[in-house]
Amino acid sequence: MRTPLIAGNWKMNKTLDEAMAFARYLGENPVREGVDTLLCAPAPLLYPLADALTGTGVAVGAQNMHYEAQGAFTGEISAAMINDTGASYVILGHSERRQLFAETDASVNKKTICALKAGITPILCCGESLEEREEGRTADVIKAQVVNGLLGIAEADVTGVVIAYEPIWAIGTGKTASSADANEVCAAIRAIIADLYSQEAADALRILYGGSVNADTIDGLMAETDIDGALVGGASLDPASFHRLTTF
Ligand code: PEP
Repeated sequence: MRTPLIAGNWKMNKTLDEAMAFARYLGENPVREGVDTLLCAPAPLLYPLADALTGTGVAVGAQNMHYEAQGAFTGEISAAMINDTGASYVILGHSERRQLFAETDASVNKKTICALKAGITPILCCGESLEEREEGRTADVIKAQVVNGLLGIAEADVTGVVIAYEPIWAIGTGKTASSADANEVCAAIRAIIADLYSQEAADALRILYGGSVNADTIDGLMAETDIDGALVGGASLDPASFHRLTTF
């Protein structure tokens, strides 16, 4: 059985005070047991947030990291630094990183390998643009991102990766994929894993859907067979809204 994962992606939002108020809310309103719950916060908030969430069962994750251990990489953070904060996940290859910061499948692959070595769970993002979808290229785009993102990762490690299917046209737009459409792509990703590794690996690996998920859509998405959770941007910014997503 795959444990569901509800992951918030705060992107470049929240001050320290706001993050602490959020943590207090989750302290007073415990999240559902049996569901993994995660907040991916801006780097300066990782340590105080992880500290404030101690005992709530809510994990903390970063939104990016460098694949080198240290060095002259101004503005970057390393896996060891993430570990030091108490965070245990990292989002890699989010479409905003790919589009705005020239992230490539090759760099995402190096980061995924690095995260696994450091004991940090990578959330490897993939997703097609509207143009690619309309041209009927969704399956090819997703396959390339998944295969290239996982290059060199052994079967024993791959089940420690979480894959997030996030169609670019659904992110922050209010346009969510239908549950059936989202499930179809998530099932296709699982078939790619079965092909690359084994059916056992495919059955164990968690696949999330992301793209304008909210209280109205979470229940339908979570009822699908191949969707193991959600990566949520906008609806994770309010504590009550985030909490509601964990109660599907
Ligand atoms: C995201 O940032 O990964 C995301 C899915 O955002 P939103 O939920 O706002 O579409």
